[in-house]
Amino acid sequence: METLLADAVARSPGETEFHQAVAEVAESLVPVIDRHPRYREQRILDRLIEPERVIMFRVPWVDDHGEIHVNRGYRIEMSSAIGPYKGGLRFHPSVYLGLLMFLAFEQVFKNALTTLPMGGGKGGSDFDPKGRSDLEVMRFCQSFMTELQRHIGPFTDVPAGDIGVGSREIGYLFGQYKRIRNEFSGVLTGKELEWGGSLIRPEATGYGTVYFAEEMLETRGEGIEGKTCLVSGSGNVAQYAVEKLIMLGAKPVTLSDSDGFVHDPDGIDDEKLQWVMDLKNVRRGRILEYAERFPRATYTPTIPEGRNRLWAVPADCAFPCATQNEISGDDAATLVANGVVLVAEGANMPTVPEGVDRFREAGVLYGPGKAANAGGVAVSGLEMSQDALRITWTREEVDLRLRGIMASIHRTCRETAEEYDAPGDYVVGANIAGFVKVAEAMLDQGIV
Ligand code: NDP
Repeated sequence: METLLADAVARSPGETEFHQAVAEVAESLVPVIDRHPRYREQRILDRLIEPERVIMFRVPWVDDHGEIHVNRGYRIEMSSAIGPYKGGLRFHPSVYLGLLMFLAFEQVFKNALTTLPMGGGKGGSDFDPKGRSDLEVMRFCQSFMTELQRHIGPFTDVPAGDIGVGSREIGYLFGQYKRIRNEFSGVLTGKELEWGGSLIRPEATGYGTVYFAEEMLETRGEGIEGKTCLVSGSGNVAQYAVEKLIMLGAKPVTLSDSDGFVHDPDGIDDEKLQWVMDLKNVRRGRILEYAERFPRATYTPTIPEGRNRLWAVPADCAFPCATQNEISGDDAATLVANGVVLVAEGANMPTVPEGVDRFREAGVLYGPGKAANAGGVAVSGLEMSQDALRITWTREEVDLRLRGIMASIHRTCRETAEEYDAPGDYVVGANIAGFVKVAEAMLDQGIV
């Protein structure tokens, strides 16, 4: 494993998040590779950390003042062992190859856990949609898709949304794909209902994370009702995690964006959440405005490179739903000291490795992103099925399937962890179960 990690670092220098993700997975896989020598002989993990294909391209576009901008676009097609590449597109200034490599790598395992036939991929651009007009976003998306369209397709690679890519961006991307390819197909997920989307897809990641949390709590005879919950972020995942928490009788008390966080000691209720959804999705405002609108709430600005004080708010459960590495080792220690019983990751890799160790040592119920937030891609998989069959399932039907998938992921993680002498360890369970499914497919398909 040490050689493998050293190779990954040497071949992808500077891609720190990717190294972090590989290290975390590799550590869990030692017992399974010891037990199955063929995985080592066939160099399954060495093959898995090398993407099948990386596409990088220029994205030129013109702003509302006639100025020309040039961004960089990416698509990483990591593994197609169990289905077409599947994973979101992220538009954020922090996007670079290493960030997308980590996300694509994690996606392979996550998708394998969903029980659906989806390979792993990820893509995006360093374009920042914040502060851009709708027309600017449209021109950017059209330029991005003009290149991407030649590499994707409903049986090849099916992108979706992620940070900075919501239903507006998916609409513009889909429109351009359709125009160039002259084909109306399920090439993207996260589409609006009227043109091939699935009910519950916008809700799926947030709802799924809370369903997963319920499953974890149930193993200790507890429920989410009455629990005070910290939620970070205020985008798609955070909004629907809060919605489901409210529905189940929990009390979410925080939300954040990259500028700061709000703490509402009275709890965020339905009415306040509707206001947040309008603020973030329609008016595209900042979370600071919450504290201006609801005076009992306080706003704390982000201190660059400082501790994230959101995690110092006393609570029972934590749902990081913003971005990677948002919980440091110290933040995790604070959460543990404050008696948090559960951490369910709506975001991808939001906890640094030291923080993960703290949670595991303290016996916190810790649901890593690749298991806890898999509901989003799972319903994307259901959207692909509905597109292919040209039918639409009801809200209840999709929600029921989502619940079933989250319960199945939870069961698989627990059973696998048990089998490998790490009872209750969801990191070990998720990594091994996801890996074995992909590894077996790779053995069947030969050295490709
Ligand atoms: P959105 O763009 O809708 O929301 C992202 C939220 O996180 C915003 O509130 C944003 O604040 C905040 N945020 C982004 N970057 C940073 C940063 N560097 N520091 C602090 N806050 C930040 O994205 P999603 O809700 O879709 O995604 C959130 C997380 O969930 C990501 O990790 C994503 O990979 C993961 N995820 C998403 C899925 C989905 O279906 N959408 C599926 C599975 C995982 P600001 O407005 O200031 O940028």
